[in-house]
Amino acid sequence: MTKYKIALVTGGAGFIGSHIVDALIRRRIKVYVVDDLSSGAVGNVNPNAHFTKISITSSQFVTYLKKLIPDVIFHCAAQVNVRHSLIDPPNDATINILGTIHLAHTAATIGVKKIIYSSTGGAIYPETAKMPASEQVVPQPSSPYGISKRTAEMYLHYEYQVHGMPYVALRYANVYGPRQNAKGEAGVITIFADQMLNGRPVRIFGTGKQTRDYIYVDDIVRANMLAMHRSVMGEINIGTGKETDVNTLCKKMAKLTGYTLPPRYTPCIPGEMMRSSLNARKAKQLLGWVPQVKLDEGLAKTVKWFSQT
Ligand code: NAD
Repeated sequence: MTKYKIALVTGGAGFIGSHIVDALIRRRIKVYVVDDLSSGAVGNVNPNAHFTKISITSSQFVTYLKKLIPDVIFHCAAQVNVRHSLIDPPNDATINILGTIHLAHTAATIGVKKIIYSSTGGAIYPETAKMPASEQVVPQPSSPYGISKRTAEMYLHYEYQVHGMPYVALRYANVYGPRQNAKGEAGVITIFADQMLNGRPVRIFGTGKQTRDYIYVDDIVRANMLAMHRSVMGEINIGTGKETDVNTLCKKMAKLTGYTLPPRYTPCIPGEMMRSSLNARKAKQLLGWVPQVKLDEGLAKTVKWFSQT
């Protein structure tokens, strides 16, 4: 097993990145975090990590990387908002594509042993695919965000083929759990928790019959740790394979939070996918990963965390 002493986590002040930082520190790995705090918060960063406020799109980042020479990079920094990507595709591409190129190309020249990339399954597979979608489904992203995340994977593959830079792209389903930013539109569970616990009206777009594959953040962190240690390469789905619709989710959350008002139904978001779920058989085969946290358990943990903050 490759020994990693120094890890860099980009986006380590964000939701998923900060949990990865905690897990690395528990494993006694020295952790460095870069984040521009555009959606993350310093308060999320483990005090035992070394934090630098810097953008992955800047030339200072390349200088920083060349000086640090980490053994492994967990690349979580990204423009994560699908709606923002529709409004400003160039900004999305600058962060998600150019930022990743800077990172991967520099990493390849300084001898980084592996890059573990936080990719997406939900935003790249077409909803016409047989669900749950496996990695064999040809990606057909329908938003600039999906395009930029898929393009970044392709650049990682290029750096592997041409410069031998190993990578794993973990294609997540819809991740939820403590520290998710309630302002982001990715996290309906977090938004419900925030609205219900503060007694605000809950809105459901469309019929509420749209389904997603919800995965608890601890399962995502475990997949990252396995991807670090196992000798694997390429794109791997990380999801439960189960679909839950928004109406069901709303009822479960209302029960957990004691919320009694009925949700308000508003017109659907144009272009929103009606179904999404990921087949994670490859993750089981290559990483020995299976999801461990059941939806009801994860929701209860999430509500508990939000009610205490
Ligand atoms: P997040 O917004 O909490 O984390 C992203 C972090 O990146 C933030 O801390 C932000 O400040 C930082 N960042 C953004 N632009 C940056 C830049 N130019 N330079 C440095 N830092 C920058 O979101 P998250 O949900 O934790 O997402 C983490 C990763 O997981 C992202 O790459 C996202 O695409 C991917 N992902 C998330 C989900 C999900 O459901 N949350 C699903 C699929 C994939």
